[in-house]
Amino acid sequence: AFRTAFRDRDVPSTQARRTARPAAGAPDTGFENTPDTDPAAPAARVWARDLLDRDVPVPGGAVVVSTTQEVDALVARASAALPAWAGTAPAERARALREVASSLEAARADLVATMVHETGKTVAEADPEVSEAVDFARYYADRATELADGVVPGAVHRPAGLTVVTPPWNFPVAIPVGSVLASLAAGSPVLVKPAPQAPRCGQVAMAAVRRGLDSAGAPEGILTVVLSPEGEVGRRLVTHPDVARVLLTGSLETAQLFSGWRPDLDVLAETSGKNALVITPSADVDLAVADLVRSAFGHAGQKCSAASLAILVGSAGRSDRLRRQLADAVSSLRVGPATDLGIAVGPLTEPASGKLLRALTTLDPGESWLVTPRRLDDEGRLWSPGVKYGVAPGSWFHRTECFGPVLGIMRVETLDEAIDLQNAVDFGLTGGLHSLDEAEIDHWLSRVEVGNAYVNRHITGAIVRRQPFGGWKGSTVGPGAKAGGPHYVAQLGDWWDAPDLL
Ligand code: GLU
Repeated sequence: AFRTAFRDRDVPSTQARRTARPAAGAPDTGFENTPDTDPAAPAARVWARDLLDRDVPVPGGAVVVSTTQEVDALVARASAALPAWAGTAPAERARALREVASSLEAARADLVATMVHETGKTVAEADPEVSEAVDFARYYADRATELADGVVPGAVHRPAGLTVVTPPWNFPVAIPVGSVLASLAAGSPVLVKPAPQAPRCGQVAMAAVRRGLDSAGAPEGILTVVLSPEGEVGRRLVTHPDVARVLLTGSLETAQLFSGWRPDLDVLAETSGKNALVITPSADVDLAVADLVRSAFGHAGQKCSAASLAILVGSAGRSDRLRRQLADAVSSLRVGPATDLGIAVGPLTEPASGKLLRALTTLDPGESWLVTPRRLDDEGRLWSPGVKYGVAPGSWFHRTECFGPVLGIMRVETLDEAIDLQNAVDFGLTGGLHSLDEAEIDHWLSRVEVGNAYVNRHITGAIVRRQPFGGWKGSTVGPGAKAGGPHYVAQLGDWWDAPDLL
């Protein structure tokens, strides 16, 4: 796996364009990735409002659920498409992906509305997610073209074969679309099993992908959607002997489950995180607090990349200022249904349970609530965000991914102690530093064990090409080239041992 550090740089992309500074006079919502930041913001709001008043119909009329008996036939159909697709010139595959980019862009409103209704994602988070999907399509199209040019001198790229994609529910459009298109770019037909928590998102997104592929005249069987809430359907699919590879985005437990089912399975996975943002006394406190709040509570904290710890160094932890500003910022976040365009934190996709419920309702020794989380509905999906103060080194909250709107604060005396705590977890997905001291920044970058290291920026919302996304340590399984990065498509081929590739 590879670690990359990101300081802000300007690389054009659909997402980047939409995350540009707010237009003069636009209201500051506190979250940068909002329709407000788009020059077309008023129009965006109008379509969002219209759409949110109605449900988007599912393509074909209903969510089609597959049964275990159907798995063999679905795999056989996908296998039959392998020779034709593998034999299609990479430039042709790239053309198909560019058509998909256009059909996703055309489906933007339906995709946003479906995410909002089905998963509780806010418009402010769902809209840039569509941009990310479009960016994946264009970016992977370019990478497919490079395969034809020969990325590795003298080596020939061969498609790996039938690929199963098992995406998560928290990015129910961008992640399945990105994984499916990367596999298609590399010449492999795909069976995708959308997360059971977000079947409509899966169906609407894949219908848009399908329209793009069809308009490019791509072979029928290269994309198959397998929807089922049943674990058994997933197990049959993943363990099918004709399946060459699985691309998973989910928990480490799921990756381990897959390997347990079939030890020889070729699994590439982006898994869990327990991510911290370190704030030193030299930091710009206003910026640090804004980035921390955004990183912790965007999408109600349901991102692998989310900040779930803030580690305050020296006087940053002793002074009242940061604590007070953080408490004010968090308690002023508006919480409500995702169809309300004015809210910052929407409902959880599923009612809080297990680790998250424990984190939201329990304090361990030494901890106190800086901001007490409150349950705001009967179902347990709507929670006002909480901040725990005094999380102890080695404690349960220090080490456990909880995946929701709760942030823990730790305090240390030195930057090295902060880095030790940041690294003392099994995972290594994202991490952040807020510091205006170049020596501190260089030191932190040389020691932090995360895939995506962000300096003076929020730690979520990686942007295709600009911030390829992937983990280190327990956050990744497989060779580890990053999604949205230069080697992601190439690693899906069969020349993996070519020495100069990475
Ligand atoms: N790519 C997303 C980000 O940078 C996170 C994806 C995930 O949660 O799986 O915030």
